[in-house]
Amino acid sequence: MAKIIDISMEIKEGMIFYPGDPEIKIKKYLSIPKDPVNLSTLNFGSHTGTHIDSGLHIKKKGRSTSKLPLNSFYGKCKVLDLTKAGKEIKKQHLEKYNLEKDDIVLLKTQNSKKQYNKFRKDFTHISEEAAEYLAEKKIKTIGVDYLSVSKFNTKNKVHEILIKNMTVFEGLNLSKVKQGEYIFAGLPLKINCDGAPARVILIKN
Ligand SMILES: [Zn+2]
Repeated sequence: MAKIIDISMEIKEGMIFYPGDPEIKIKKYLSIPKDPVNLSTLNFGSHTGTHIDSGLHIKKKGRSTSKLPLNSFYGKCKVLDLTKAGKEIKKQHLEKYNLEKDDIVLLKTQNSKKQYNKFRKDFTHISEEAAEYLAEKKIKTIGVDYLSVSKFNTKNKVHEILIKNMTVFEGLNLSKVKQGEYIFAGLPLKINCDGAPARVILIKN
């Protein structure tokens, strides 16, 4: 039987969020027995927890999340163990792997060991050169194990290069995932927006 691994963060009050983003609020709007049903209001940023980015995130007239290709949400996936690569993922770390056109590539880094308990500014990120390499390889989707692909508080082209050339998943929980090949399924909410939370699973046959 296929093994399914949930690599999504749970969206809940008190969870971590990127500095400057809105805090996560989930409130009861209707409650049993006072009301006939339980129903809540969800209040949080479009880049909360496990989510995708789209062009609109970084460009005024960029593409919205609902326009991203469905085939970038599903398919053959390679999880790379880069937990020993340090704080910056460089091109040389990726060159060791056989990355092919239309691959979905997930980077498991030091972040996975430290988890998502509180926001760390020194999270492991992707270098510009590594982002260009991923684009050159024509992979269709990249996924990272922290809330951003690029270095904290630094102006560079990492977001731009990745978003322009592939679908970007951030905030994956890869702590229980070993290096190897899987089937990836990550479905973001269909919202016309700059980002959208997603439920993401890996399937191992
Ligand atoms: Zn984002």
